[in-house]
Amino acid sequence: MPKIFELDQHVADLIAAGEVVSRPASAVKELLENSIDSGASIITVEISSGGMTYIRVTDNGCGIAPEDAQTAFLRHATSKLRDAQGLESIGTLGFRGEALAAIAAVSRIELLTRAQGADEGISLTLEAGEVVDMSPAGCPEGTTIIVRDLFFNTPARLKFMKSDRAEGSSISSVVLKTALSRPDVSIRFIKDGKTEYHTPGDSRVDSCIYSLLGREIEAGFISAESSDETVSVEGFVSLPESARGNRSYQFFFVNGRVVRSLLLQSALEQAYKNRLQTGRFPSCVLYITTKANNVDVNVHPAKTEVKFISDKQIFDGVYYAALGALEKSQNFNPSESIEHNLPKEILRTSTFNSNENNANFGTSSSYKAPSGRGSAGKGGGFKVMQADEFRNSHISEYTRSFGSKDNQTKSPGPHSYTEPSNKQSSYQPKVDSRNSLSPVSSNKNTPANSATTPIHDTFRVIGEALNVYIIVEHKGSVWFIDKHAAHERLHFDALKSTSYDPMSESLLTPVVCRIGHEDASLLLEQADFLETLGFSVESFGEDAVAIRHIPSEIDISDTESVLSDLCLQLKQSGIAEPAQRDSIFKVIACKAAIKAGRSSDINELESLASNVISGDVSQCPHGRPVIFEMTKATLDKGFGRI
Ligand code: ADP
Ligand code: MG
Repeated sequence: MPKIFELDQHVADLIAAGEVVSRPASAVKELLENSIDSGASIITVEISSGGMTYIRVTDNGCGIAPEDAQTAFLRHATSKLRDAQGLESIGTLGFRGEALAAIAAVSRIELLTRAQGADEGISLTLEAGEVVDMSPAGCPEGTTIIVRDLFFNTPARLKFMKSDRAEGSSISSVVLKTALSRPDVSIRFIKDGKTEYHTPGDSRVDSCIYSLLGREIEAGFISAESSDETVSVEGFVSLPESARGNRSYQFFFVNGRVVRSLLLQSALEQAYKNRLQTGRFPSCVLYITTKANNVDVNVHPAKTEVKFISDKQIFDGVYYAALGALEKSQNFNPSESIEHNLPKEILRTSTFNSNENNANFGTSSSYKAPSGRGSAGKGGGFKVMQADEFRNSHISEYTRSFGSKDNQTKSPGPHSYTEPSNKQSSYQPKVDSRNSLSPVSSNKNTPANSATTPIHDTFRVIGEALNVYIIVEHKGSVWFIDKHAAHERLHFDALKSTSYDPMSESLLTPVVCRIGHEDASLLLEQADFLETLGFSVESFGEDAVAIRHIPSEIDISDTESVLSDLCLQLKQSGIAEPAQRDSIFKVIACKAAIKAGRSSDINELESLASNVISGDVSQCPHGRPVIFEMTKATLDKGFGRI
């Protein structure tokens, strides 16, 4: 039997450090939160080489008394929590007393601090958690912490670091979110000697948004608010016409803390149901306030995920804030569109029923209840299925028929319940002859173009259901094909093929995409690569690019969303190495498929079915199934024939 030893303190600290500071961005987040907790009104964050060699955070907060300076770097040393009771009503961002110890364990630190009202400050130098120097110092009131050579003593962790660019952009995003969380604090972010953001700290949300997200985003926002006795929500949500191709501008803050939450995301997107095209997402900056003991912030080491005591109240708060804002701005008739379908997978703990909801809001709450149709319990014995429900409920059938691998049975992902159904979409049918034979028919070199007629004789397209599924009779079975997924797959294969020769569409007037300084310079850096995909990108001022050509498969109105998705991928993969191109192709394939999926004539349905049935296509690039079979036996069984 192996002997059991207690780990030595240093090793234990290194392990603990890995949980709290996994990347430079997590160190910056902790330091910035400490500065906010210190009551500072002005904070500067400066980094070099993605934060790997240098991070400095300076604040004008309360400072640290000389006698406490060393203690602050001990594990579980905190001034913010005394006892277990306190844990239920945490008002500060930090409370675990781990961050400084963790950062110190894996870097070289200089601390310079002077407590408010003290005559003198103190300077402390640490290396790998050990104090190497401590001396009195003259410095302004407040605290400066400089972190150098992060992870210098943990080579294994160093290997996990991405490029300086990728780490730098994660930091930039952390600072942005934190700055957005506190419009009352002026935050400056300097990256490699250049100021990236500088918020005024005048407590105005709009000016904070303007300085962090830019004029365009700010102009597309409308104010939103709601409150009841337990939850209040205020901030801004985007007008439907300012929706984006991704969720990167959805910001939620709960009691001043930046949080990621599917619940909140879903509440927001439900309010836009039937107002957005598939693949478009609302943006928001929403501040949610609730009693500290309604939220458990102690469920995630970086405290970015929270648990709510009452999911339903929080959901409703966000939902009605957004809905109210939209109705006000658009004079929208709620009875036409609101079906308050709470996603089951999100509201595990709540029992929700739309009638009960209406009753509640009619009496005890200041939220305005929508007079929408209830979604449950009406209409006799029929069960009306949404497209995604249908997809989910039949995946097992697919798996059985095709013996698919694990990843094919994955549910469609968190966005699935927010996708507005195409049924009521405002798309105008747009038949594009280039797309009517095969998704890549404009390109003679592509393999997907080889739809063979003989196969056509073996199947019969019955039609299309729900604007999503092609129904085909073939080999004595009924087959369902996910039109979008099939299209996406065919495009993806075409893009990947070595003989791919992009067809570009020349735009009469260039499309100007105001995507912010960082994304604009990223796209310009990658202009040559983007050209191989059919985009031509030119500089257009500091924070924008002008696009003169787009791949012909992409709709002009999708240009900006495709480019911002590409930026996201480029940031994640660092550089467009051939090995990383798949993720980029997926973005384009997906957008092209959306374009093609808006309306389908019979030729298009037949062409897609032919490509799928000929065996070229069984999964979309994201691994979702493209086709499933309902055998005659299954049908017969369902009807009690066998
Ligand atoms: P926590 O924030 O969870 O308390 P930390 O390890 O981040 O733990 O910090 C330890 C303590 O050091 C804090 O509780 C606080 O008293 C002090 N401290 C850290 N940073 C600052 C700062 N910028 N200004 C004032 N005090 C600070
Ligand atoms: Mg802290």
